[in-house]
Amino acid sequence: MQLKSFEFNPIAENTYVLWDDSRECVIIDAGCFFPDECRALQSFIESERLTVKHLLCTHFHFDHVFGVRFVETTWGVRCAAHPADSWWEANNAAVCASFGLRFLGEPPVIGTPLADGDVIRFGLGTTLRCIHLPGHSPGGVAFYDEDDGVAFVGDSLFAAGGMGRTDLHGGDYAELMRSLRTRLFTLPDSTVIYPGHGPSTTLRTERWYHNL
Ligand SMILES: [Zn+2]
Ligand SMILES: [Zn+2]
Repeated sequence: MQLKSFEFNPIAENTYVLWDDSRECVIIDAGCFFPDECRALQSFIESERLTVKHLLCTHFHFDHVFGVRFVETTWGVRCAAHPADSWWEANNAAVCASFGLRFLGEPPVIGTPLADGDVIRFGLGTTLRCIHLPGHSPGGVAFYDEDDGVAFVGDSLFAAGGMGRTDLHGGDYAELMRSLRTRLFTLPDSTVIYPGHGPSTTLRTERWYHNL
């Protein structure tokens, strides 16, 4: 599995593209906001001759979905996200405005509902398992590739002891800690964690920081 990460939009959100030798790819968290960011994503996918198979959202906060409509119209896919984040469909524009930002066009809606345990397949047998991690947002999920030992966790966990805020709508600190303790940290220590913001890390490192 190959991986390219982009840092997009004024919130410095990580957008990931995963692919394998089949050239089928998955985009996780399309945060491209400015036109040149959308062009950068498009020209990467075109120059690598990738076929976009899935658009996955770790959660539906505005900084992770700015580019959803662009990806949907450019490559004919619909975004997949956990429906517990549906409050954000109608409220992303307003919350975003409170951060001094504005959606260009209509904020996106959840196309395909995801559930805990869903397995997303692409390429030559690559699989991503959806792990529900409520707390940062009610519909927060991780996408776990067991064969490659990597997990894309959105804002549930950041490198060097961080985690996402829990003061936005539907956030719950105790629930996030429970999600980390009972779900994410049950994965192998060697798992490489790709967060929604900032650099990658490993579960082993974060276990030390969080004392879990
Ligand atoms: Zn978030
Ligand atoms: Zn975020």
